[in-house]
Amino acid sequence: MAKCSVCGRPAVYVAKYEGKAYCPQHFLEWFDKRVRKTIRKYKMFRKKEHIVVAVSGGKDSLAAMHYMKKLSERVPGWTVEALLIDEGIKDYRPTTIKDFKKWAEEWEVPYRIVSFKEEIGASLDEIIIKGHELGLPYQPCSYCGVFRRYLLNKAAKEMGATVLVTGHNLDDEIQTFLMNIMRHDVDRLARLGPVTGIAEHEGFVRRVKIFYDIPEKEVVVYSMINGFFPEFVECPYARLGFRWDLRHYINLLEEKYPGTKFMIQKSLLDIVSALKKERGGKPKKCNICGEPATGDVCRACELRMLLGLMEPPDWFDMKSIKI
Ligand SMILES: [Zn+2]
Ligand SMILES: [Zn+2]
Repeated sequence: MAKCSVCGRPAVYVAKYEGKAYCPQHFLEWFDKRVRKTIRKYKMFRKKEHIVVAVSGGKDSLAAMHYMKKLSERVPGWTVEALLIDEGIKDYRPTTIKDFKKWAEEWEVPYRIVSFKEEIGASLDEIIIKGHELGLPYQPCSYCGVFRRYLLNKAAKEMGATVLVTGHNLDDEIQTFLMNIMRHDVDRLARLGPVTGIAEHEGFVRRVKIFYDIPEKEVVVYSMINGFFPEFVECPYARLGFRWDLRHYINLLEEKYPGTKFMIQKSLLDIVSALKKERGGKPKKCNICGEPATGDVCRACELRMLLGLMEPPDWFDMKSIKI
């Protein structure tokens, strides 16, 4: 059994990429040091912030809520709230909402829950059925992603957020990066990075990923040591996604060639920063709902019209929607 590189006690985690091992106590110290370094490096926060943590109920976002709550207790100008988007996924959401409420109450984090059903007009399960009836391609994760991003921004603004924290970790980010490369989706690629949402645009709440430099496994260890490892429920749509396979292959590579994930992330940062410079341009305002949009109408409004959840205005040409 590996021994802690700091104190020699039994280790709970081995960081192959740096050739070190850690006991629970020294793992937490090391973890905290690295998250704080991430926050400083990418200049994520200001002196005064009303922080809203986007929580899905899974381990990463619970860890983000836990971490931000603890950190905010040491920073006088910061307040923290949590926000959960209920997509309406049977057999999955009810469990995660239960976990979310339990921990938010235990850690005394005020929260708000916003649902697809109320805000979009249908739950994700219903949207998928509708999409099928209309003969649209089967793509649960992309509907979910568009509407979730939309609602997070909208609700965070209503909550008075100055910044939105998500639990995305190193693995999530490089998976998205490689997925967009493999699908030749350069627009999405340009939206990656540790800090997103353009601060100068009044319609966007700045988004930060505090676990940007932290591998998924380490977030798991953090939540286990802190005793809030949630009941494992996986989104029933996740296994159908491309991401699922990619995650598996990247883990195989990391196992064989430690440090691969960090190298992919370095490439990502260079490519994304070059892309952002080249593209520049401020986002527009959606002519229907007023939320930020790349074109005249935001993607959430387009999908709602496509799914028959919203009447298109007279001036709008339904044929302009890319499927
Ligand atoms: Zn130790
Ligand atoms: Zn819109």
